[in-house]
Amino acid sequence: MSNKKISINEKLSIPKIGLGTWQLQGQDGVQTVATALDMGYRCIDTAQAYDNEEAVGKGIAQAGLPRDQMFLVSKVWRDKLAFDDVIRSTEESLNRLKVDCIDLMLIHWPNPDVAIESSLKAFDKLKQDGKINAFGFANFTTSHLNEAKNVNNDFVCNQVEYHPYLPQKKILNWLQDNGKFLMAYSPLARGKVLKDDILQGIAEESNCDASQVALAWLMRQDAVMAIPKASSKEHLLSNLQSHEIVLSDEAIKKIDDLQKQNNRLIDPDFAPNWDRHEAL
Ligand code: NAP
Repeated sequence: MSNKKISINEKLSIPKIGLGTWQLQGQDGVQTVATALDMGYRCIDTAQAYDNEEAVGKGIAQAGLPRDQMFLVSKVWRDKLAFDDVIRSTEESLNRLKVDCIDLMLIHWPNPDVAIESSLKAFDKLKQDGKINAFGFANFTTSHLNEAKNVNNDFVCNQVEYHPYLPQKKILNWLQDNGKFLMAYSPLARGKVLKDDILQGIAEESNCDASQVALAWLMRQDAVMAIPKASSKEHLLSNLQSHEIVLSDEAIKKIDDLQKQNNRLIDPDFAPNWDRHEAL
């Protein structure tokens, strides 16, 4: 099955759709990852904090794909951002995943108590040692991105919550202007898009599902890829096929209008001061 990609550098590219694995654990996690890879998914997103790297690793092994044919993403938790902790915890991730290299390692959340220089030095070393292919961030604001850029501009992406109800224009513009990409997490607004009248209306016209409309709207944007989580075969396939949906200008305008809701779903007490969106 074809799947559009974002080119990261001469050697690396990432599919525009991947599988999110938060809350997929144990045998369910193993089976879902294996099924997804068999079905044609080529990007899997996990994290140390999901407590499922072992299950994800088993799913990858079960699918039996050559390692270089899939793109693996994991994340270092916010209390492991000092140099030694990044190195050690990434090595632990590699052991749990049973792979030699993680394609993209992210800082899961910014931590104001640890200097970014320290984490970036560690990522640099891991890259030189062939233990990661690239590094990036999650939940960084534009002010964090500017700070990081001044230290080491080699990062490739920022993974942030992005769906029809949450605008991310400021971050997306920053990333596009700087040659980086945006990984959209909770792209289905954790299932909320399914019940949306506007999205359902567009889906009916396009003969598809509201979830596919939301994913197609994300993926049509330059430098944006999405990592919906799904556990049933039906949902996995539907999400993977969403890149085939073409939205009319009128449909795009209607979805753009939903952004006015400005509804953030993931906002823990340690979250940063998010970028503000004026003039929606
Ligand atoms: P999501 O992908 O927006 O939504 C997942 C929900 O949608 C699940 O309940 C799933 O149900 C349902 N679903 C999926 N496909 C469907 C379909 N085709 N039709 C109907 N329902 C469907 O939510 P998310 O898990 O929060 O976000 C996705 C991934 O982003 C996570 O798994 C994780 O990898 C990443 N993430 C990262 C961060 C971060 O801080 N960096 C934060 C949140 C999430 P079933 O499971 O029953 O299929």
